[in-house]
Amino acid sequence: MQPQAFVPDLIFRPREEINAAQELRFAATMDLVCAHHPHYRQLFAQLGLSRADFQSTADLARLPLTSKHDFMGDPQAFLLGASDVEPEMQVEWDTMYTTGTSSGKPTPFVSTAYDYYNVIALYKRILGLRGVGGDDLIANLCPLTVYPHGAYHRVSAAGAALKIPVVNLVPGRPSPHFHLGSELDDVVEGIVRTRATILWGVTSYVRRVLMRAAELGADFSRLKLAYITGEAVTPALRANFEQCLHAAGARQASINVSYGITEIQGGFTECCPGGGFHNPLPEDIHVQVVDPESHQPLPEGERGLVVISHLNRRGTLLLRYSTGDLSVLSRSACPHCGATTDRFTEMPQRADDLVKIKGMLVNPTVVEAAVLAVEGVKEYQAVVERENMADPFSMDRLRIRIAGTSPLADKAPRVSLAVKQATGVTPLVECVEASAIYGPNGSLKLKRFVDQRKG
Ligand SMILES: [Zn+2]
Repeated sequence: MQPQAFVPDLIFRPREEINAAQELRFAATMDLVCAHHPHYRQLFAQLGLSRADFQSTADLARLPLTSKHDFMGDPQAFLLGASDVEPEMQVEWDTMYTTGTSSGKPTPFVSTAYDYYNVIALYKRILGLRGVGGDDLIANLCPLTVYPHGAYHRVSAAGAALKIPVVNLVPGRPSPHFHLGSELDDVVEGIVRTRATILWGVTSYVRRVLMRAAELGADFSRLKLAYITGEAVTPALRANFEQCLHAAGARQASINVSYGITEIQGGFTECCPGGGFHNPLPEDIHVQVVDPESHQPLPEGERGLVVISHLNRRGTLLLRYSTGDLSVLSRSACPHCGATTDRFTEMPQRADDLVKIKGMLVNPTVVEAAVLAVEGVKEYQAVVERENMADPFSMDRLRIRIAGTSPLADKAPRVSLAVKQATGVTPLVECVEASAIYGPNGSLKLKRFVDQRKG
């Protein structure tokens, strides 16, 4: 079969062309899945389904959702495992791991050489949506981790897509055996020294770098873009982040937020602030939003579970995979950039994000907005615990740790009142050093909401 050529501007072509590309890839993928894929072959046998039952992507709805639990339970069963294909389809290029699973054990996600070529194509589109150009230089602020993670490794793929330099500043220290990590001040110095124009990292860490740059008076005026991922960004946090950019002297820089997930080896990308999260590679990544109960696809504009199917993978391959996040989908042309690709019009948010405190359902993003709205508060962490941790039946307590510009003590009553007004729960507010919130090494994701009642 003749390989399909990569069409750089496909996401701006009429939607029918995207649909046609998806159907071609889906047909080829289902041929391979029905012949080789251990998990789905077994599932189809149980359900009495065969290749003929999958005529188009609409037939994906015949399948039950694949849950994270299914994937985590037996990741090897999701490797396509085709052995009668060209070498690049089979050669294992690398394995990235998911983060933040409830069991704490990351799940391997395997790419063949062919998959990696397509990851580079994915980043060609991602950087195009962001307006990155040939004279940019990316500072990779994602940390080295013990389990290889796309956040760190895929920034180099992005550089390869546009043929632009990437500097890995390697913050943190994943292991006592590693001695070449950068401290916070080294990262600030590295950004100035290399004349980076783009900062790329996890939201809370990039923000911390900007705050330190402001303290040191570092020259960040060359910055054009802060590309942040890995954590949900509320409007309050975005506004606060803008202030941090300004304070660091990056007056021309804009913020670009991405909904990044290991299972697409990249992120659904904004074209401009508030422009929604665009599917960069729809010919390879099929997205649906489905009813959380019936799991049937919802009309555009309705909120439901985000579900992903791979249309063109040779390593790990998932069909109707539930990300566990809720969002709203649009397939009409983006009013900002004109792209006709799928677009999440809300930042996808974990379906199980609401936390019950003293019997009240509390949304952590509402807590965040209330805390960060108090002037002078730069960092925070919310901890849900029991008043007496030794007594499993004692009352819940919400404790909020804040850090920021001194004097901070007078901010505590204002934070307490703001959170009470926003959620109905009166918190205990403590003023701490920012380092007490980040911890000594800084993990990949700062845990802003910690529930200590669990486990
Ligand atoms: Zn757009």
